[in-house]
Amino acid sequence: MPCGAPSLTKAPSVRLHRSLPGISRYRFELRCDTVVLEPIALRTERSRSNGSTSRTEDRIRARRAGTVMFVNVAVLKETQPHERRVALVPAVVARLVKLGARLHMQCGAGEAVALPDQAFQDVAFTANRRELLRDADVVLAIGPPALGAIDEMKAGAILISFIYEHNEPALVERLLERKITCFAMERVPRISRAQSMDALSSQSALTGYYGVQLGATHLNRVLPKITTAAGTIGPAKVLVMGLGVAGLEAIATAHRLGAVVEGYDVRPETAEQAASLGATFVDTGVDARGKGGYARELTADERLKVAAALTKHIAAADLIVTTAAIPGKASPKLISSGQAAGMKAGAVIVDLSAEGGGNCDDTVPGQTVRVGRITIVAPLNVPSLLGADASNLYAHNAFNLLALMLKDNIVTIDWSDEVLAKTMLTHAGAMHDDAANHKSAQTAVKVA
Ligand code: NAD
Repeated sequence: MPCGAPSLTKAPSVRLHRSLPGISRYRFELRCDTVVLEPIALRTERSRSNGSTSRTEDRIRARRAGTVMFVNVAVLKETQPHERRVALVPAVVARLVKLGARLHMQCGAGEAVALPDQAFQDVAFTANRRELLRDADVVLAIGPPALGAIDEMKAGAILISFIYEHNEPALVERLLERKITCFAMERVPRISRAQSMDALSSQSALTGYYGVQLGATHLNRVLPKITTAAGTIGPAKVLVMGLGVAGLEAIATAHRLGAVVEGYDVRPETAEQAASLGATFVDTGVDARGKGGYARELTADERLKVAAALTKHIAAADLIVTTAAIPGKASPKLISSGQAAGMKAGAVIVDLSAEGGGNCDDTVPGQTVRVGRITIVAPLNVPSLLGADASNLYAHNAFNLLALMLKDNIVTIDWSDEVLAKTMLTHAGAMHDDAANHKSAQTAVKVA
């Protein structure tokens, strides 16, 4: 319901006082128009067997019966500078409602991606952030929320968002203090079963695509071979460095646009992946496979060996897209100032690792700079620049994660589920590793 419209009719309030894990006895306390169960509110709807009845009719009937329960899911307007994405899109609303969620959003949360409040059916809107947070059992967000937002959440509530704990020590401290169960989207394990929840991948794929588009607009030449009566223009040479999700998408995009593409990574398995997308792999002879499919840092000797092998490929490229990253570390430097000075006049580097400091010595994160004869473009928060698609994919990722816990109008966290256990950042006042002990005693915890 858009802001300014009358608020939704709410069920009478029911307050649950938990006795023991497993909860066998309940004491209900009626309050005006709010339902809060500790540590998390659970709301069950008495009967929705007749699928033809409207939600309003259901609510009225349930209100009379006094037994309607839902899980309150709140979505805030993002507060980070330049963040345009929103964690909920209309396509996901009906699916969440079906699982028993009652949805609330902050007015204007989707405006930056052309989703006005009116586009969301079955969602209650309010301008009051405090109210949203106070009543929420689950808060969905994209970027790490402000400290004040965590203070407003009730103890035991669930937060699902990107956190990046190393950048947010104060926030993590507050999550622990407030006993928030936080699922950090960057922690979703990279396993087949979790692919539909893997927001790192969905956002990185968009980043890789956009990196090539951005580079193309800064080049003073075209990417494909073009033949005219006046003559033929040869295809541009594109070098992609770092072949994770973003790098492979960049290769695919540059190849589709007709460029001649090369790819380089320190994980040898990427050679076959690059080839399958139409790129030639630059083999530097260095194998720096790390743990869990990620790369490790190179030694000083390895860096010299790589630099020697790459210099001529860097010099030949019209466009370079860099995406190299090592989890928890600053971005590795792949292009020195000397190598950049040896590039063709008019060449462009798009550094997609600016968030971690960048892959080039001359990168200025968040800026586009002319360095000698070349241009280095280093955008921050690239998925936000494609906010509509990025929000859509993220909202589906978050829904798929929440769907593991939200069934029949109840949130149940099964800690024996690898995806939930590994994605959890904080729970019951403990950090992931410490919380693991707590969890092992309770394989299926009903958070209610
Ligand atoms: P990432 O963003 O952590 O890093 C990007 C790339 O940079 C990686 O390919 C890495 O090897 C490379 N890199 C690091 N240091 C480098 C250097 N000095 N020179 C060149 N390249 C360097 O990567 P990502 O996209 O998050 O993917 C990480 C891993 O997760 C990959 O193995 C990927 O295949 C895997 N993955 C698996 C799944 C799944 O199975 N569900 C989903 C997504 C990703």
